[in-house]
Amino acid sequence: MNDDQQTVIVAGAGPVGLTAALILARAGVRVRVLEAGDGLAEESRASTYHPPSLEMLDDLGVLEPLMEQGIVSTSFQYRDRTTGPIADLDLGILAEDTRFPFRVQCEQSKLTPILLQALQGLDNVTVSFSQRVVGAETVGECAAVATESGEILTADWVLGADGANSQVRQSAGFSFEGMTYPERFLVASTTEDLTAILPGIAAVNYVFDPEEWLVLLRTPEHWRILFPTDPETADEVEIDPARVQARLAGVADLGREWDVLHTTLYRVHQRVADTFRKGRLILMGDAAHINNPLGGMGMNSGLHDAVREATALLGLLEGTGSLSELDAVCEARRQVALSYVKTITHDNWERLRQTDPQAQRAYHDELRALAADPVRMRAHLLNTSMINSLRGGRPVAMVGEDQG
Ligand SMILES: Cc1cc2nc3c(=O)[nH]c(=O)nc-3n(C[C@H](O)[C@H](O)[C@H](O)COP(=O)(O)OP(=O)(O)OC[C@H]3O[C@@H](n4cnc5c(N)ncnc54)[C@H](O)[C@@H]3O)c2cc1C
Repeated sequence: MNDDQQTVIVAGAGPVGLTAALILARAGVRVRVLEAGDGLAEESRASTYHPPSLEMLDDLGVLEPLMEQGIVSTSFQYRDRTTGPIADLDLGILAEDTRFPFRVQCEQSKLTPILLQALQGLDNVTVSFSQRVVGAETVGECAAVATESGEILTADWVLGADGANSQVRQSAGFSFEGMTYPERFLVASTTEDLTAILPGIAAVNYVFDPEEWLVLLRTPEHWRILFPTDPETADEVEIDPARVQARLAGVADLGREWDVLHTTLYRVHQRVADTFRKGRLILMGDAAHINNPLGGMGMNSGLHDAVREATALLGLLEGTGSLSELDAVCEARRQVALSYVKTITHDNWERLRQTDPQAQRAYHDELRALAADPVRMRAHLLNTSMINSLRGGRPVAMVGEDQG
């Protein structure tokens, strides 16, 4: 390593920060990752990898160990809570659009150790745990971060990949406009075999209901059931085991209690930063944008930010790219967050909870027609699998809109 090497500090060792760090470090940039936790986060969060993310992880050489731990899901299902399956959409129809025409179901906590291990094989990277960033700023041609332990560290660039409550974003005065959903989302993870309880379900199922929509997701170890909660109740009420059991009994009455591993209750927002670059500070992932989880786009779009933004920064550092190219990439990613991820995930929320029976029937008919028409099904899946987001930004016409 020589002292002239460009340096980048990455705040946050989540999937996004570690992916960006790997891209930069593999190219010889000296990278320091600062992680607030005393180890990698282990909690149950995102668990779906869409085709473009699989391609990117494959290009980085980290897909194989992820797939060894995951489940390949070649289709997903729309269901009505009362009447059952509406439509199964086959991702195989994307065979000419992607090397991976499927989703992989695997917790994000399985990806981060793989990325960390890849970084640990490089001598120009340091990953420091228990190092919370409390501030970041541009100082002349450099960036500086302050840590909770009182250190001031400088680098050529700082990447804010420190999640939804990003200190890089907040301390440097990026705005984070948007809205908070009235209800919180409750996730119950269970060891019960939902394929036996609800025969015919896919690994990913969106279940429409005006009173209580659901998402049923399979991961290698368990099933996750996502419920909306009443905006008026207290958190303690929602996570009360008896109440969780009552809600699960509404999904299927097993004649006994469901085996619940854990429950998570969280507030959901749609927010996007006003810019993804300010001076020597760059935002990506949840630090830059957050959305509801309906469609599994949060972690995936963060991974896409990491790849696109780190690659553009690398171009600038190596002299093959420019600052205006980096800005164009950052703005393109911001537009994806604003007009693509936000649109699709919010649309999913509205459709799942549709209360007007006529609109509900019309949408279900649309889905059935779509599943029977390969051209329209492909167009829909190019959106939902996020391939279109990397091709141009705006979603093509959604189901239920003018297909013109
Ligand atoms: C409860 C929950 C459930 C979710 N479920 C889904 C889902 O089902 N589907 C989906 O697509 N998405 C889901 N998400 C969103 C998804 O987890 C995120 O989009 C994804 O984790 C973003 O990755 P990231 O690396 O940007 O941020 P994170 O994964 O949040 O990683 C940020 C890292 O930075 C560290 N950090 C935080 N502050 C600092 C600091 N000041 N200094 C240094 N380090 C810091 C954190 O400890 C963490 O390791 C969920 C999120 C939550 C909270």
